[in-house]
Amino acid sequence: MKRKRVKELLAGPVTGEKVLVKGWVRTKREIKNVAFVALNDGSTINNIQVVIDISLFPADLLRDITTGASLGVTGTLEASQGKGQSVEILASEVVLYGKCDPDIYPLQKKGHSMEFLREIAHLRFRTNTFGAVMRIRHAMAFGIHKYFNDRGFFYLHTPVITGSDAEGAGEMFHVTTLDLNDLPHTDKGAVDFEKDFFGKPTNLTVSGQLEGELGALALGEIYTFGPTFRAENSNTPRHLAEFWMIEPEMAFWDLNDNMDMAEDFLKYLIKYALDNCREDLEFLNKMIDKDLIERLEFVLANSFVRLTYTEAIKILEAADHKWEYEIGWGRDLQAEHERYLVEVHFKRPVILTDYPKAIKAFYMKLNDDSNTVRAMDVLFPGIGEIIGGSQREEELDKLTRRIEEMNLPLKDLWWYLDTRKFGTVPHSGFGLGFERLILFMTGMSNIRDVIPFPRTPRNAEF
Ligand code: ATP
Ligand code: MN
Repeated sequence: MKRKRVKELLAGPVTGEKVLVKGWVRTKREIKNVAFVALNDGSTINNIQVVIDISLFPADLLRDITTGASLGVTGTLEASQGKGQSVEILASEVVLYGKCDPDIYPLQKKGHSMEFLREIAHLRFRTNTFGAVMRIRHAMAFGIHKYFNDRGFFYLHTPVITGSDAEGAGEMFHVTTLDLNDLPHTDKGAVDFEKDFFGKPTNLTVSGQLEGELGALALGEIYTFGPTFRAENSNTPRHLAEFWMIEPEMAFWDLNDNMDMAEDFLKYLIKYALDNCREDLEFLNKMIDKDLIERLEFVLANSFVRLTYTEAIKILEAADHKWEYEIGWGRDLQAEHERYLVEVHFKRPVILTDYPKAIKAFYMKLNDDSNTVRAMDVLFPGIGEIIGGSQREEELDKLTRRIEEMNLPLKDLWWYLDTRKFGTVPHSGFGLGFERLILFMTGMSNIRDVIPFPRTPRNAEF
């Protein structure tokens, strides 16, 4: 018989037909001669109730049906007489795949802290919370590809190993096959990267943008969606050393087009989650964050505020608030400032534009004031920055000057500069941090809990 998913059984009509389900035991209760087993197979947050007539099965089999054990159950699907579920399976055959010793199984019925679950990250997928988060994560990845595909964007695979370190100053992981205990040296005593695998120093990428631009300036509209790596030693609830980023890049789009898409894209994804992940969202709303669904619906229904960095600084300076980090024109905004604007002042998402050039990347288009650049950061409630983007500098001379001013390795960027020599066009793009998006969509509070295997300083266990 072909196995059916629990999700399918719970959704379909009750027919009295014979079915086969397979999954893991969440709970077992025995009342008189009947055992009630809640079985979950990961297809949905909901369990299916299996009803076992104790007199029909061997006692040792019944004893081994404990939380975490894996079973295959054949039986008839009936309307349930009990409360809490509409259907149940009256078991006629039970196969035990794997026992799960309750004396050593770390997941008990009681709730566990997120910190404890991080220590058993290899098992935390089995909890309701992580099941819900991982299903939402999947739906968001799918929704992202659908959004771009439906709009004629091409998915471009940019490299994970990169030879340029223009963007990452100091925050990159080196990639090498050299023996660290026996490094080759040049005559001058430096490490001889000629002898390394690529014949030069290489790193893990911090962003696919520069390569993404190369694609956009031929294909029109592209996006990347891949892992990025930052060796920043910031132990915050919003930073990972390995995270996924979505980076669309569009030829002939200006900053306004870019902002319009960022807002439309985020709202599309919120709607996609509300339409496709309802049960998981309702669970998280009940257990993790009671304002979650309301917040998603609020962001969906309201337009984002757009204002310049300079205007934002004025608001922050006038605010009656004690800041941990000082504010002032020219300083970068910290999460506390971003969240004040969003959560206290405007009470809705904000897109900040036109930042001082000194605190933004070299490739952002210089404004006519020669002081600010056409940057845009999208700031979200509970998160702070979720998207960072800009219109790019398409003029060769201005771009070259910025690279020199910032003391970046001009000669390593020859291929990037070529795009400005050969048919340059205005273009724009942005980067959305996938895990920051999932934080927002799930109401989880720590970024370590929205990625299957978090990588943070001193932590790469699983
Ligand atoms: P932040 O100031 O929060 O560190 P950033 O300015 O370094 O962000 P960008 O370089 O613009 O961020 O990267 C684009 C997006 O990638 C950010 O808006 C954010 O959503 C996400 N992001 C950046 N760094 C991390 C990180 N270490 N872990 C997870 N997501 C990140
Ligand atoms: Mn950063």
